[in-house]
Amino acid sequence: ATPMSIMVSVGRAAQMGVLVKNGEALQSASKVDCVVLDKTGTVTQGKPEVTDIHWHGEYEQALSADDKSALLGAIASLEQHSEHPLANAIVSYVKQASIPLPATEIFTNHQGKGIEGRVNYTDYLVGNQALMTAFKVPPLTVLANSNETSELDATAHFAKQGKTPIYVAEAGKLVATIAIADPIKADAKEAISAIRSQGIRVVLLTGDNPQTAQAVAEQVGIEEVIAGVLPEQKQQHIKALQQQGHVVAMVGDGINDAPALMSADVGIAMGSGTEVAIESADMTLLSHQLIVIANLFALSRATMTNIK
Ligand code: ADP
Ligand code: MG
Repeated sequence: ATPMSIMVSVGRAAQMGVLVKNGEALQSASKVDCVVLDKTGTVTQGKPEVTDIHWHGEYEQALSADDKSALLGAIASLEQHSEHPLANAIVSYVKQASIPLPATEIFTNHQGKGIEGRVNYTDYLVGNQALMTAFKVPPLTVLANSNETSELDATAHFAKQGKTPIYVAEAGKLVATIAIADPIKADAKEAISAIRSQGIRVVLLTGDNPQTAQAVAEQVGIEEVIAGVLPEQKQQHIKALQQQGHVVAMVGDGINDAPALMSADVGIAMGSGTEVAIESADMTLLSHQLIVIANLFALSRATMTNIK
């Protein structure tokens, strides 16, 4: 392609809402045959909210309303130190319930898993299954005299609705599951079908719970899901797809997407995303609409074939 024609298409991309850092990326975009989408903040709106709190087994009865509030206050105190969108959802929920946040005594972040810390001389863990496994928190068991079909069902029930289940452990025991919902972008389904109709393979790549990711994928028409992925593994999955012979575009917004955005043939950051993601990408999407990505591939193909 001539420098002139590339300049023209960089200008057209800008009109569509895509800031292209270098013209070469547009040429690569015309060859993309596989798009990897991050879930949170890319396919979903990135505005997670707490929808349910399920107290496990005996805790529903054994804890008073004050005990429950105190526990929520403690974990919100810890989540204040995390920048994760799920952490913000928990903090907002607890603050809205006018529960006071006590002082944090110890705090440790576990990338891709959750958080660990101490409040009022009590240890807490808040995060996914991998975090609970790492700290040897005993898994939920079905209580012999419980009316519930299964305690495990509470978690699976949330995940099937596309909600992220977050486990809460106090002093090494699983006490509650918090369900967090992040609505899917209004145009996600249409955009994904528009991308696929160009013969492009679409993959959802997320650190979230596999059942949650599967539910979201079904709602938007994505058939391939890679879930429960740690941040450093996201990049490896991109490389594996490239080794299969694919020209890969990655779309993401988080700190954890940055290495994958760099490795991809075309890295596309959401404009609403983190600074690191934007710096690691070749292009930035200024619009929240995913359909712009489909339009971008169509544009890049049109320009590159015109000038051959
Ligand atoms: P992604 O952006 O792909 O959804 P992350 O790697 O950021 O994934 O996180 C993966 C999972 O780790 C989250 O879905 C959540 O279960 C857990 N997690 C991470 N950080 C936190 C946190 N601060 N509080 C609770 N859970 C967390
Ligand atoms: Mg994300």
